[in-house]
Amino acid sequence: MTKFSFTRNATDGAARTGVIDTPRGQIRTPAFMPVGTAATVKAMMPESVAATGADILLGNTYHLMLRPTAERIAGLGGLHTFMNWDKPILTDSGGFQVMSLASLRKLTEEGVRFASHIDGSKHMLTPERSMEIQKLLGSDIVMCFDECPALPATEAEVAASMRLSMRWAQRSRDAFGDRPGHALFGIQQGGVTRELRAESAEKLKEIGFDGYAVGGLAVGEGQEAMFGVLDYACDMLPEDKPRYLMGVGKPDDIVGAVERGIDMMDCVLPSRSGRTGQAWTRRGQVNIKNARHADDPRPLDEACSCPACSNYSRAYLHHVFRSQEMISGMLLTWHNLHYYQELMAGLRAAISEGRLAAFVADFHALRAQGDIEPL
Ligand SMILES: [Zn+2]
Repeated sequence: MTKFSFTRNATDGAARTGVIDTPRGQIRTPAFMPVGTAATVKAMMPESVAATGADILLGNTYHLMLRPTAERIAGLGGLHTFMNWDKPILTDSGGFQVMSLASLRKLTEEGVRFASHIDGSKHMLTPERSMEIQKLLGSDIVMCFDECPALPATEAEVAASMRLSMRWAQRSRDAFGDRPGHALFGIQQGGVTRELRAESAEKLKEIGFDGYAVGGLAVGEGQEAMFGVLDYACDMLPEDKPRYLMGVGKPDDIVGAVERGIDMMDCVLPSRSGRTGQAWTRRGQVNIKNARHADDPRPLDEACSCPACSNYSRAYLHHVFRSQEMISGMLLTWHNLHYYQELMAGLRAAISEGRLAAFVADFHALRAQGDIEPL
């Protein structure tokens, strides 16, 4: 049986490219993980998600534990069978969404007690329960249960929260146990304070994990502050394990994170924007609901080989969005996920050929031109 392992094939500056091997297949890094919140990447069939080039999906513990419940999914053969996705799945711990979605939260050393945002039912999430749920789901990459301080927070609050998360990281490790072929990732916290990030990294390395996430970023601190943290945070984590930046991001966030040594990312942005008429292209963001597209027979991006760009005009995409037809979200989501995966493939090739700086310069130059001129 294949074990979980990470191989770095090439580096260019701080950036790395390689492969994560899992019993369910390989994950080429740097990797972008589409988000399949409720056991579906919204508006996409699983085979279509795979066709965009995704090697791995993210599932949300918080949503799945409430509906249809982890026990029900386990009884139906696990999340891969349930949602018809046989490649790797990473699940988050539920911690972040408990803090952002649930009500009546009560945080203690033990865990978080909360009321469901769906029906008000009461639940408790602890490191042990989060490990149990992620095991029931059959997740390939399991995330430690951690606490995300509500912002704005003082440095003392961030420090206390980070230390609680490190105690929970140890409990997560103990509860996870020995599961060959499955991985457990630790999550570095510490906000934007270098000393706290260092303390967190040391604690996680002492416990020992299969991969390390940089947590607590992309929560409104801005790109400059995020890159400022990544400039030193990546170096604090083991070189020979995957590094995962949670919840990122826009295409230029992704490029900047990869330049700084990040191997994995996830974000709802490409799928969510696809449902609100926003497309991401090599030349930046396109708002398909804009009237300028109504008579435009050209594709969204003539260089894109996705179904939306190969077979449909901007005028059609504009029409189906304005008419609130379901195919609108389907086509734009497909295009956006395809664009993100092409970007990752481009980054991987550039790193392995030692030309990342030129690739990044071209990326920014094309975006600076903006969308094609209206007809
Ligand atoms: Zn396209």
